[in-house]
Amino acid sequence: MVELGGGYVGRIAWVDLSKGEVKVKDIEPSWALKYVGGRGWGARIVWENVPPDVDPLSPANVLVVAPGPLTGLLVPGAGKVSFSAISPETGYYGDSNAGGFFGPELKHAGFDALVITGASDRPVYLWVEDGGIEIRDAEPYWGKGSLDAQEMIRQDLGDSSIKVASIGPAGENLVPIACVNCDWRNAGRTGMGAVMGSKRLKAIAVRGSLDIPVADPEALYEEARAAFEHVRDHEFARVLRKYGLAWYIDWSHDHACLPVMNFRRTTYEQKDALNAEAMLARVVTALTACPMCPMCCGKFSYVRSGPYAGAAVDGPEYETIAMIGTNCCLPSIEDVVYANWLCDNLGMDTISAGNIIAFAIECYEKGIIGPEDTGGLELRYGDPGCVFKLMEMMAKREGIGDVLARGVRFAAKKLGKGSEKFAIQVKGLEQSAYDVRAAPAMALAYATADIGAHHNRAWAITYDIEVGRDKYTREKAERVIYLQHVRPLFDMLGCCRLQWVETGLSLDYYARAFKAATGVELSVEELLRASERVYNLTRAINVLRGLTAQEDWLPDRAFDEPVPDGVVKGARLDRERFRELLRAYYELRGWDPETGIPTEAKLKELGLEDVASALGGLAKQ
Ligand code: SF4
Repeated sequence: MVELGGGYVGRIAWVDLSKGEVKVKDIEPSWALKYVGGRGWGARIVWENVPPDVDPLSPANVLVVAPGPLTGLLVPGAGKVSFSAISPETGYYGDSNAGGFFGPELKHAGFDALVITGASDRPVYLWVEDGGIEIRDAEPYWGKGSLDAQEMIRQDLGDSSIKVASIGPAGENLVPIACVNCDWRNAGRTGMGAVMGSKRLKAIAVRGSLDIPVADPEALYEEARAAFEHVRDHEFARVLRKYGLAWYIDWSHDHACLPVMNFRRTTYEQKDALNAEAMLARVVTALTACPMCPMCCGKFSYVRSGPYAGAAVDGPEYETIAMIGTNCCLPSIEDVVYANWLCDNLGMDTISAGNIIAFAIECYEKGIIGPEDTGGLELRYGDPGCVFKLMEMMAKREGIGDVLARGVRFAAKKLGKGSEKFAIQVKGLEQSAYDVRAAPAMALAYATADIGAHHNRAWAITYDIEVGRDKYTREKAERVIYLQHVRPLFDMLGCCRLQWVETGLSLDYYARAFKAATGVELSVEELLRASERVYNLTRAINVLRGLTAQEDWLPDRAFDEPVPDGVVKGARLDRERFRELLRAYYELRGWDPETGIPTEAKLKELGLEDVASALGGLAKQ
């Protein structure tokens, strides 16, 4: 029997909103270690509790809110919390994570995870404090903006330091791209805000003052000292401390992967009005950081004058600037800050919102929709008014906003006329902000990501640039698989991946920190094995929900329309070579090379016998 000496606080709360009941269960150590925490626990709890035919917006879906075993401890960037459920946007497994202080506070309040089941018949919020959970009336906050509701809850509870995860009108209106705002940081992707809305759960407010146990505090401290110094003094950490992730706008532009005009172009004449230098000069007022992070990549931005004066956000970061700024051709960084604030308060994912609006404008340009569909609103690239108006229409599901709010896959099916070719999504999730026409590894990463086209599963574009952007080698498939295990491992441990990505903080360090925290030795290989286990588990969830290999694919634009500008002008993906790359990926994973279904042998090798048995004949190949 394994014993846990710390890291975990040892308790999961099961909150049944239909019955108004809270039950607290102790964690079972071998189960906890097998799936590590965060997204790993989320996937396993979804697997065990949500049958494959469940409607994501029904009470039978479960929402798992889980930090990880390192969250809240002395580890750089250890502030992550994952939200997992069946996604109302894709219909498949979904998760998203947020940094900031909410995750650590939840552990200090005495919980490793909250599992929220059922649905309330009236708006409620959870009040979590030092081992106790109350389900409270949220009627006064329902209908309010997400950030506004957070402030009201803090005021009503009389403590400005309370941490709150909340939804806005988009989540209440079951918009499938609704996010969960965790104070200023967001769990943006896959519609976890709509799952909260379907349960009439407006918010989770947390205050914690309990200790998080640590097996070997001295070892954790010694490890942390070297790790913090490494990150603090790293040359690129200095760059990110100064510029934040907005630094990548220029990088992406220079490497011709910046999305412009719904992923048609990769260069934008007004890029310098939206890049990190513009941010620093015009809107940034302070550096911000998640707890225990010496990198401080966050920037607090404030619009000083003009029509959007007073708008303030923690950000905008690269994805938001690219998807709303360059992809919709907005003219100024102030427009992007306002759009970011608007999305946050409405409670909508900025990546999906920017992608959808750029798609809608292209539909309007091509005559697929007209003023009769938009209520007279003219849709144009470069027009901030139209972007803001569409955001509000989506959140409120008004007019064309109701169609767009369901995502570009749904909208393209509804609107037809060839719009599927330029609906830039995979598995129903809008692609995040890298053009992949000259990046087969990144394209493979998007095509095979378990939640749909999101970069956080495997950011492989730097590998494409390093080894050749026109290469479709087996090594690229191997690299994507490796990244799909490393990067989500951070979401399982409950810490930020950027210290590893940007400063090369070693994976061995995280294994040592895990041992110091929990008292359990797991090698890097064993931790990566756990991440592979979770990747196969989410694949199995998706297969049982109807996923086929046809959905491991990209929209036609990536194959048919050459990049018109930039350093890879003329490039596009090759269908046959990409198909071969995908086949190599399946083989390397131990999945059936035709169907992409995990084989019985692979699932058993990963200790997923029950999953193999549930897949039955599907996994027999
Ligand atoms: S690098 Fe940025 S996102 Fe990551 S923990 Fe630090 S401040 Fe947060």
